[in-house]
Amino acid sequence: MSATAPITQDVMTIPRKLPEGPVNLVGLTRDQMRAALIDAGTPEKQAKMRVNQIWQWIYQWGKRDFAEMTNLAKPYRAMLADKFVIEIPEVVSRQISEDGTRKYLVRIAGGHEVEVVYIPEEDRGTLCVSSQVGCTLTCSFCHTGTQKLVRNLTAGEIIGQVMMARDDLEEWPTQGAPKDETRLLSNIVLMGMGEPLYNFDNVRDAMKIAMDPEGIQLSRRRITLSTSGVVPEIARTAQEIGCQLAISFHATTDDTRDKLVPINKRWNIEELLASLAAYPKASNSERITFEYVMLDGINDSDEDAHRLIDHIKRHQIPAKINLIPFNEWPGAPYKRSSNNRIRKFADIIYKAGYASPIRTPRGEDIMAACGQLKSATERARKSRRQIEAEAGLPQG
Ligand code: SAH
Ligand code: SF4
Repeated sequence: MSATAPITQDVMTIPRKLPEGPVNLVGLTRDQMRAALIDAGTPEKQAKMRVNQIWQWIYQWGKRDFAEMTNLAKPYRAMLADKFVIEIPEVVSRQISEDGTRKYLVRIAGGHEVEVVYIPEEDRGTLCVSSQVGCTLTCSFCHTGTQKLVRNLTAGEIIGQVMMARDDLEEWPTQGAPKDETRLLSNIVLMGMGEPLYNFDNVRDAMKIAMDPEGIQLSRRRITLSTSGVVPEIARTAQEIGCQLAISFHATTDDTRDKLVPINKRWNIEELLASLAAYPKASNSERITFEYVMLDGINDSDEDAHRLIDHIKRHQIPAKINLIPFNEWPGAPYKRSSNNRIRKFADIIYKAGYASPIRTPRGEDIMAACGQLKSATERARKSRRQIEAEAGLPQG
């Protein structure tokens, strides 16, 4: 290989054994788990079966203790307990909104914290999962965008958020009990903190675990990935994940989108639309959700609504347009469009033949709504300063 050859990662990543401790099994793909078990002395011929058994205990039954894995021989369980752990992020706090929305603050390795939101609805329950601590992008209307990227989450930390929520909702099935078809946690949206397509491999591995038929068993139709428009990764999302796609569109001219969603300067509206047009066929999925945050006087005119439809029609994209009333946060430079304006905008889109639901903000009282998430450590620091200022105390 020449020195200038691109670095590709086409070989399986074998989990790194850290000198200070055992390997966490949560987040490993089946192949990675198999390699780890063989590495720990499992005969190759047995490894696939052991993966199946352990996988079911972890992801189907929600077990965290090797001692409970009763279809494995006792000495084998002891070996597992010696070399491996089954660990998920730790819940630091949980807030429950008046509307039933739950916001969790979880701590991950290194002491970093991310937020996870559970939104109960009549016929389903959606978990809004984070993919990064902070975000490298700086969308001007997004609270997370004001926080620098600290790091990507591992696959274990991403699927661990789902496992944490199932713990809290007490939703792991009991062995032998009749299968309950109504799920409290029935959908996942990758709409928490971070840009999921800038953490592609870990997001993919975690979502594969969520979809695995021997485990959490969520259909790919119940998983939605939201991206600000990392165009080169959109085709990969179709091929390697195959979930539903949502796009943070938010503006109908490059001028405005450059300001609201600065990644537009790298890949503009036309390039983005072309990649979206190819998505449904490549992923065998249905409509693409266009997310559109309603900002007073910025992107909410009738002309914007007409231009939006024109973009979607010109590229023949099967679409649904989700209008999001802007959720304010301390210091935000925008105002939410009026209800009348939002309704008028929705009406134009609807009359053109597209679904245009207006998203009801959920969990606003606990700062759990779209775009309001930010690491609590940073917020706590801010609010202490604010409190001091309000109390007239010396600041420092
Ligand atoms: N980084 C990804 C996913 C996380 S954001 C993305 O940008 O798509 C989830 C959605 O909330 C995105 O559509 C985002 O643009 C939107 N959003 C961000 N800040 C918001 C705010 N203050 N009010 C309403 N929606 C917001
Ligand atoms: Fe990052 Fe998404 Fe917020 Fe933009 S909207 S700053 S991509 S989290």
